[in-house]
Amino acid sequence: MKCPKCGSVRSSVVDSRGDPNAIRRRRECQECEFRFTTYERIEYALPLVIKKDGRREPFDIQKLRAGLLRACEKRPISVEEIDSVAGRIERRVNEMCVKELDSISVGDLVMEELKDLDHIAYIRFASVYQEFSDIEQFVETLHSLNTEAQKAKEAQKAMASGEKGESSESEPSVRLVK
Ligand SMILES: [Zn+2]
Repeated sequence: MKCPKCGSVRSSVVDSRGDPNAIRRRRECQECEFRFTTYERIEYALPLVIKKDGRREPFDIQKLRAGLLRACEKRPISVEEIDSVAGRIERRVNEMCVKELDSISVGDLVMEELKDLDHIAYIRFASVYQEFSDIEQFVETLHSLNTEAQKAKEAQKAMASGEKGESSESEPSVRLVK
């Protein structure tokens, strides 16, 4: 931190106080003894989301949460699960360290999470958010889900016939689509 008076970078902190959002430091220049104040704040690095019409909006976890709640309506998913999904998505968006992000990319993150959480919620979200460009794409997605469901079923069957009691340990949170 450069002294505003003489430009020296040698300064010492003589006092430090803060609130939850900022720390205020009183510094003294070691060259000219000039005292000055610095603040340390959290940088909110969340990007702006570019909407389909080109408008930019700050990334809003509450909006994301509302979308998740709607997709998961009447599904066996707890609010805690939805909150942790929303938190994970926010963290991932934050870790991208970008200034702007298109809404499709956010949608993709949500889809990834919902795919693991609940297939019905996934389809609901996908049909709204991604706006399937054609029916073929929609069928393809359904097909890939069914293939996965089939695999999961087979794996479960194999497990049940192999070691009994193993499968009851982890209650499946995903209800598979038939
Ligand atoms: Zn100085």
